[in-house]
Amino acid sequence: MDPIPFSGSPLDREGVRRRDRGWLDARLADPASRFLPLWQSKPLLKREPRALAWAKREFFEDLETPEPVFLGSGEGVAHFAIDVSAAEKPEVTFGIADVASFDELRTAVALLPAADAAIAAHARTLVDWHARHRHCAACGGHTRSALGGAHRVCFDCQAEHFPRTDPVAIAVVVRGNQCLLGRGPGWPAKMFSALAGFVEAGESLEDAVRREVMEEAGVRVGRVSYLASQPWPFPSSLMLGCVAQAESEAIAIDPAELEEARWFSRDALRQASRSLQGREAAAQRGEAERSVGSREGQGREAAAQRRRSRAKRGLPRRARPRSGRAARRSRAKRGLPRRARPRSGRAARRSRAKRGLPRRAAGERSPSEGRDRPDSPPAVRDRTSPDPRVGRFGRRRSRLTHGRRRARAHDRRSRAPGRVARRPRHPGWGAAAVGALRVGRRVERDLRARARRSPLRPAAPAGRAARRAQ
Ligand SMILES: [Zn+2]
Repeated sequence: MDPIPFSGSPLDREGVRRRDRGWLDARLADPASRFLPLWQSKPLLKREPRALAWAKREFFEDLETPEPVFLGSGEGVAHFAIDVSAAEKPEVTFGIADVASFDELRTAVALLPAADAAIAAHARTLVDWHARHRHCAACGGHTRSALGGAHRVCFDCQAEHFPRTDPVAIAVVVRGNQCLLGRGPGWPAKMFSALAGFVEAGESLEDAVRREVMEEAGVRVGRVSYLASQPWPFPSSLMLGCVAQAESEAIAIDPAELEEARWFSRDALRQASRSLQGREAAAQRGEAERSVGSREGQGREAAAQRRRSRAKRGLPRRARPRSGRAARRSRAKRGLPRRARPRSGRAARRSRAKRGLPRRAAGERSPSEGRDRPDSPPAVRDRTSPDPRVGRFGRRRSRLTHGRRRARAHDRRSRAPGRVARRPRHPGWGAAAVGALRVGRRVERDLRARARRSPLRPAAPAGRAARRAQ
């Protein structure tokens, strides 16, 4: 029988040696030690072939991370897991996007070697638990990792907290040559599973199986025997697999838990299992083929598409180079000056002024007009516009973002030569307007008046108030 996925980790958890802080520190500092980074509970996996991507400690030196958790020793080398969720775009930060990726373990498990899947399950559960248990459940104080992450201790009351494992009873209910399977609401079509549920407080595993099967399917269960278990690291369950003997046959499902429950014959299951294995193998072959050479293939395909599109539009095979040495050479060949004239912005205006041309080309729109959304109302240039939300160029302004807009305008002005950049310390109209919407118009007027009187108000107010003052 194949090992049960997520079980059978080859690492030695070193229950005795990990109590020695000196030994652990030496392992942390040992350049041979291996670190498995996890980002938002996703382990780092090599792309081809799929496997855990171990890294050296120095890889994470620039990143602020919680203390790595010790997973165990393998082949004389210490293995740790490290939470790198602090990185914003980790694949970019670490420069590994070509060779590895942070992937959801639940979907990647089918393609991972069994030992790697087991180590990843251990790492995922432990890193997730540490991230969620920074405070003491007894006194609310801060906790610290102890024994290399085997548990946490409270700084204030010294209470010890151990990683949680939630037992789940999962049972195949059998009756003669048939077994009972169910499917939950929203599951993929044709997907059925053995019935399962969390073991509740003060309940034996057998009690839990009997209760769950009765609650979900209305079937009475007698003898329950334990078969095998599986760590289920989403986030911290332990599935306890049982075989249960049914004592009744009629099914009455609980629609909140199940969409359907059915008795399946042994033959039907054998057939389904065979076709499932075939499909899984095909999917794995497909995945392997897709991942090999996929990026080269995509690049070539995109280039061919560009060439076809240019041919259709009657353009030469390649676009003219727009910048760099190739562009200058191309312009020289065509007898053009070394650089193209700037088309927009300050440089363009300067160039037009030098040539004695008006500031803007005929028909050219001002940048602020250009920014108007197509669905904005026709331009209203009347500064005494009756609708205060319609600005100088007809753009409808939302009250809630006014403060941010004003801060941005202030930044732009601050960048002018001779000015010192400083953001206004006043909360701005945005905050006042949010409050005003909540408490009504009278208070809005009051808030505005107060904001006008505020000594923190910057010297040159922008926006509506400034226009009104003119
Ligand atoms: Zn405490």
